Amino acid sequence: MKALATRSVMGNKESFQLARKPMQMIGMLLAGLFIAFKVYFFNLLYVVSGLFASAYAGRVYCGWFCPNGAWLEHGVSRFSRRKGLPDTLKKPWVRYSITAVFLAVLIALFLSDVKRWIIPLAVMGSMVLAGTVLGALFYPRAFCAYLCPWGAMQTLIGRRAKLQVVIDSNCRSCFACVKACPIDKAPEQAVLNVKQTRDASALSSRCIRCMKCVSICPSNAIHLATVVQKSANAGGSVQVGA
Ligand code: SF4
Ligand code: SF4
Repeated sequence: MKALATRSVMGNKESFQLARKPMQMIGMLLAGLFIAFKVYFFNLLYVVSGLFASAYAGRVYCGWFCPNGAWLEHGVSRFSRRKGLPDTLKKPWVRYSITAVFLAVLIALFLSDVKRWIIPLAVMGSMVLAGTVLGALFYPRAFCAYLCPWGAMQTLIGRRAKLQVVIDSNCRSCFACVKACPIDKAPEQAVLNVKQTRDASALSSRCIRCMKCVSICPSNAIHLATVVQKSANAGGSVQVGA
């Protein structure tokens, strides 16, 4: 873990939830319009934008704009069994293997004679199908939490993001944020870090920036903050989780 200084950039914590749903709806609406007008490669544009955004703000695309994420959160959540994902499927090597195979298949498709418009539709279809099946069998964002290839890439890139969600020393270890998190306990390690060291700690880079934990924390201990790298023994440090 690295020690970093932070500056809170958060205003009104309720405003995040007020803004997020319309943003998700805009993401879905634009996707629908692109499909209606047969601009199928829009989804690659979406994904590349998400990858660039993750360099600064982590998986903000997943939480705020991804049409599949919005479908899982607002549609599949209505019929999800809400069970835990098997531990094997949570292992990093599983998601990075899936990502490698996914990228290899994508490159092979581009190099093949298959009609170009089929590729983005196949990508979209496979993502929505996998997300829906996993969301129905386990919990709505199970696919996003551990298995989406685009999410895995954003998680990797987002480890060095300047904008982080941070838990500070006001935390009382009630674990309300851990229970509220839609992607399987992303704040847990940070809560434990703060409990142990009383230093602020950034959330896991799996975090999709949905800000539900920020809204629910009774101690106002969770903040959106920019981080500036400092030496390991700098005052006011933040530990960035993997
Ligand atoms: S909800 Fe707030 S006080 Fe409770 S464990 Fe999470 S950060 Fe700490
Ligand atoms: S850690 Fe907080 S902001 Fe990140 S996904 Fe979980 S609830 Fe949302």
